[in-house]
Amino acid sequence: MKRIPGAPEGALHIAGSTLYVPGLTNSGYVDGLVIDTGPDESVYEFASADRLAITHGHADHFACGAYLRKRGATVVAARDDASMVENPDINIRGMFSWAKPGDLLVSKLFRGTPCRVDALVEQWRDRRATPVSLPGHTLGHTGFLTADKVLFTGDALYLEALWARHPLPYAIDPDMVAESLRHIREIDFDWLVPGHGVLVDRETAEKDITFHLARIAEIEAWILDKLVVPYTTEECIALVSAERGLSDNPAQYWLAVTTVKGYLGDLLTRGLLEFSVVNHAGTWRTAS
Ligand SMILES: [Zn+2]
Repeated sequence: MKRIPGAPEGALHIAGSTLYVPGLTNSGYVDGLVIDTGPDESVYEFASADRLAITHGHADHFACGAYLRKRGATVVAARDDASMVENPDINIRGMFSWAKPGDLLVSKLFRGTPCRVDALVEQWRDRRATPVSLPGHTLGHTGFLTADKVLFTGDALYLEALWARHPLPYAIDPDMVAESLRHIREIDFDWLVPGHGVLVDRETAEKDITFHLARIAEIEAWILDKLVVPYTTEECIALVSAERGLSDNPAQYWLAVTTVKGYLGDLLTRGLLEFSVVNHAGTWRTAS
């Protein structure tokens, strides 16, 4: 493929002016607008980038943020996620109920390079792309639809192929994730670039959305079925993790803590679970 002047190294053409750099985290590029970044700064060494739009405040989506900003890019993130971009430690603190975890507890996955945010998505004015609010993975999670009908969805959608490695995708609110997936369906796009995994066309994306929605419903149903007997929060985390086939390691555990609590909170809000404190332990059971 021929190299497009000003574009990041390795960028591939999708449609019109929209390109993307496939990688550990996929990154979009439209005439100087960068959408998320992968981990490799050298990709942008000869690129012209005047703006970086970040889908959400997880460090693997803005690893080159500080580098691009130093080279003149304006960094944009949603209000609810901007603080996590500026201070990735907030994710670690939140994960540990705001107590200060010891360094040994904190896996590399959660560490990141802080990046100042210059503008909020809420004030977006840039014809190269339109922000689309897709909350649930994080509260401020935002997708970007380019003028060429390419939709960058960050971590809002996990493609079917990704579920083998991520059987319990991180979500602060799975019900909100489901709502965002239904919203994606209503958007007029031809191509979809997820944060992780391959570029897909509209037809394939529809199937992946259906698959993701079915998994959320399946996990909810499994929890409601299991919790006819009461379990503590910690037991619920272990039960769901085992059922989903997660590996027994601290990084997986800490992600599951948030996601399982997300499910419990949703089901409680919808009146399908009951919560009480029994023998000083938070305890959940299916509503009678
Ligand atoms: Zn993420």
